[in-house]
Amino acid sequence: MKPGPKEKSAITGTQALVTAPSNNGNGFAHYKPAADKPFIQIAERMQHISYAIRDMVALAQKVQATGKKVHWFNIGDPGVFGFDPPAQIKMAIAQALRFKFSGYAPSQGDPLLRLIVAKNEGVDVGRVFITEGLSEGIDFAIQALVNQGENVLLPAPGYPLYNTKMKAIFAKANFYRTDENFQPDLDDMRARINESTKAICIINPNNPTGAVYSRQTLQQIAEIAAEYKLPIIADEIYSELTIDGEPTESMASIAKDVPVIVGKGLSKNFIYPGARVGYLAIHGPESDKLAVEMSKLGNARLSTNWETQLGGWFAFKMHQNEREGRNGRENLFAEFDQLGSLATPFVKEQYRKFIPAVDAVLNYVQSQEGYKTVHGQIDDFRSELRIRRDLVHNGLNSIEGIHCPKPEGAFYAFARVENDTFATDTEFANHLLEKTGVFVVPGSGFAPNLPGKFFRLVFLAEQSELQEAMGKIDDYMHETITSHRA
Ligand code: PLP
Repeated sequence: MKPGPKEKSAITGTQALVTAPSNNGNGFAHYKPAADKPFIQIAERMQHISYAIRDMVALAQKVQATGKKVHWFNIGDPGVFGFDPPAQIKMAIAQALRFKFSGYAPSQGDPLLRLIVAKNEGVDVGRVFITEGLSEGIDFAIQALVNQGENVLLPAPGYPLYNTKMKAIFAKANFYRTDENFQPDLDDMRARINESTKAICIINPNNPTGAVYSRQTLQQIAEIAAEYKLPIIADEIYSELTIDGEPTESMASIAKDVPVIVGKGLSKNFIYPGARVGYLAIHGPESDKLAVEMSKLGNARLSTNWETQLGGWFAFKMHQNEREGRNGRENLFAEFDQLGSLATPFVKEQYRKFIPAVDAVLNYVQSQEGYKTVHGQIDDFRSELRIRRDLVHNGLNSIEGIHCPKPEGAFYAFARVENDTFATDTEFANHLLEKTGVFVVPGSGFAPNLPGKFFRLVFLAEQSELQEAMGKIDDYMHETITSHRA
């Protein structure tokens, strides 16, 4: 309703505020809710929020309640399967707490951690943002770049958080196809770019497929990005967890003439998802422009745990030293010396106590029998992954009606169900869970319109459990195929 003269002045005039009969003083007209108006009216965006990885948990709990053993192969958390972060990182965190790093860290991240990340990434420290896991980094990247109705090229299949975040801001996931070995289909990628495309996202190594991209593929993606003037979001959270070869080469070292937002963290490479420490490093042209916006997003919320960020500083420090053949304890003060105005005098004072304390404890730990470097502990993890990957890859491929390309990184197998008993892969995954207790995530949770029925299996469980589950899937497939043929 158009406001009358009195109501209109009520919006701005104090005098009129008192006298305005049909205005509650804040500029909104008075209204009376309908008698049947619910208290809670759910936001429209919630219709689009779902998360396949966890959505089936209720069913798994039901199955477990019947007394059946559930094989929780749905979630990529090494901690659930008994893997532990390197002991040195935990030790540094304990020291950080001892020296009172228990408050809110600076919004852009702990300065020591930012400095070492900046050094590793080869960017200015102003281009590094520490986030609450890479999950928050993904949110930052999408928020800073994408408007309602615009789109980002995402791999199909890919990590579902990207799609979820896009939906929440009424933007569109623009899924590019991957081939039978889950390598990006570059013609499809190119064909999908339109004027509303804001970025190309790659996940390398990939979740959910374990695919690792070749240098040539990365180069070609960089060329497409340059041609269409698009930034690249390079999710490299599994970069160290290549099962057969060297850690993956960063997109930033290949795509020099386009902006590349690299995302990494402690969750996977350092086996420490609960630390909630991730980072974004912005490379290439126009990175200043983006850094300003990332800074704003950082300022608009409170930081992730300070103590685990210092665990992160130590993890990167040790890893870098050891990889370059040095004792992990070398150069512990290198970042301290570069702090400048990044840290307040109080924080510098705390670092002055914290760093020698870490040094002393590490010195002691290094002298103990059985000491393992951070690098060595990650290598052990990769060796375990290799054994489990081989077991699952061979196991799945020996089952009639299942085909699984070889995962080369991370800890996921993405297999195809070549059996038409089930109309959808969700039906397959639900039925498999109910009948056998093997909990896998349907492929459709990682992208719509995949060319077939797929499931993702996390192979972090112990060999004996994986073996047991392979047997159950085999029996199950045998039974469903036989009963289907009968
Ligand atoms: N990116 C990918 C590809 C992931 O698989 C995950 C977690 O599984 C994340 C990002 C989020 O990781 P974080 O634990 O750092 O939030």
